[in-house]
Amino acid sequence: MLDIKRIRQNQELIQTTADLKGIPLSVAELVELDEERRLLLKQVEGYRQERNRLSQQISRLFQEGNLQDAENGKRQVSQLKTEMEQLEKTLREVEKVFTQLMMRVPNIVSPDTPVGRSDEDNVELRRVGEVPAFSFEPRDHVALGELHRLIDLPRGVKTAGSRNYYLNGIGALLHRAVQQLALDMLLSRGFHLLDVPLMVRTESMLGTGYFPTGEDQTYRLTEGDRWLVGTSEVPLVSYYSNEIVDVTEPIKLAAASLCFRNEVGSAGKDVHGLYRVHQFAKVEQVIICEDNIEMAERMLKEITENAEQLLQLLELPYRVMAVCIGDMSQKTYKQYDIETWMPSRQAYGETHSSSLLLDFQARRSNIRFKDAAGRLKYCYTLNNTAVASPRILIPLLENHQREDGSIRIPSALRPYLGGVEEIALP
Ligand code: AMP
Repeated sequence: MLDIKRIRQNQELIQTTADLKGIPLSVAELVELDEERRLLLKQVEGYRQERNRLSQQISRLFQEGNLQDAENGKRQVSQLKTEMEQLEKTLREVEKVFTQLMMRVPNIVSPDTPVGRSDEDNVELRRVGEVPAFSFEPRDHVALGELHRLIDLPRGVKTAGSRNYYLNGIGALLHRAVQQLALDMLLSRGFHLLDVPLMVRTESMLGTGYFPTGEDQTYRLTEGDRWLVGTSEVPLVSYYSNEIVDVTEPIKLAAASLCFRNEVGSAGKDVHGLYRVHQFAKVEQVIICEDNIEMAERMLKEITENAEQLLQLLELPYRVMAVCIGDMSQKTYKQYDIETWMPSRQAYGETHSSSLLLDFQARRSNIRFKDAAGRLKYCYTLNNTAVASPRILIPLLENHQREDGSIRIPSALRPYLGGVEEIALP
């Protein structure tokens, strides 16, 4: 959420941002409604003052024994009350629509965000690691999964429908190993681990900026006001909602959780294998800090480097992309995506997404801190993937395969797999 004063002062910028981010919103309509709202507020306040003045006058008239004027005054008060109630009703209706529109206002983007409409306009910042040059026809992760019985897609579909899977034996162990490696790395870097609720209230989805724009992406439970989270960022940030926090040092949170996405809008896209599924596991990093842009930029660098470190430990080639405005979500101010080399796609595929949101989430979630002068201010929030699996298994299996079909396990993962150095042929 943005401050309405800021919206009034930057109408053109915010309208362009909404258009480029693909959010249907009329900033002019919002500003008009705000004017109406403020006028109504003023009128209601005027009525209130008049009513108080009259009430005092009436009690004085009663004390003086001037019953006739006192009775007239009472009739006036009752007339005022009826008019005021009508105004208050209109105000409530205007405020309802105003809040709905406010919830759609996008965050502004950083001055260095590339201008563009889709991921094709993202700008590559750097490449790290060598893309493997195979001297044989490499298998894709689905074929490798079948060969070693690591992945069972047909049974996943049989049990749970399309975009579902089973991980089998060492496939399931690898899935857990990458998450534990990521968690251990974050814990060694000062992150605090939380185990989080995965079924959350609408309020938490709104507060973290996933609703209203992402409502159709989310699975809703049929009972009660509960939604299945698409990322643990939601419960991690909501942990501090409506609280005043101590950010003398940035708060660094991590969670490993399942994520559920209905992938509406992705029909027919990435249907092969494990790239785009309905349920996956993700180790997430969230940072909550004071509203200091230099500090926030440093934190963005840090969480991006954490993800890069993980990929280096997994010995995978990747590139870092500056995400363009058209590929950003409503809440994001600045974003880097990390894409890892996937031989079967002959391309880098997105595996991590690192975002700075400024105070957008904290305003909606009401997370504040006291600055040095004792003033209450909204915090800044950031998040990034540390690892998401099974998507990461695609580059892991495909890049480390050998001609005979065996798969090398990078040394950083071996302690999590009982020292196993390779997935050998059965
Ligand atoms: P996001 O929270 O959308 O930025 O996604 C973070 C990471 O989660 C992505 O970079 C992917 O690695 C992974 N991911 C997102 N959606 C899916 C999906 N439908 N299936 C598998 N992995 C996903």
